[in-house]
Amino acid sequence: MHELSICQSMLRVVDGAMKAHEGSKLLRIFADVGRGSTVEPQLLREAFDVLVTGGPYEGAELVINDIPLAGRCRSCGRAFEYREIALGCPACGSASVDIESGLELSVRELEIDD
Ligand SMILES: [Zn+2]
Repeated sequence: MHELSICQSMLRVVDGAMKAHEGSKLLRIFADVGRGSTVEPQLLREAFDVLVTGGPYEGAELVINDIPLAGRCRSCGRAFEYREIALGCPACGSASVDIESGLELSVRELEIDD
């Protein structure tokens, strides 16, 4: 389950940010998770619950911003959203496509009580 190690890296980012707010309580973590990032939001949530239980962030909520995978065709210029990872423009069939969003995997914001 690679979500566990991804969640561990996310929590290291959180640790770094929380050092500047010593003594504050972490309420929420807002994370951007693109649909093309290979991370399953449900599994990330489960990993988060396991990792924060008994620790300083117990009770904090993980808020996942689910970002659709979107691309643009280099041949016809059509912008579109992928329902799933698939290569090729739905309009002209060209395989020359730029991914514009949906690969994100990052901690965007923390909500803390100080
Ligand atoms: Zn096209």
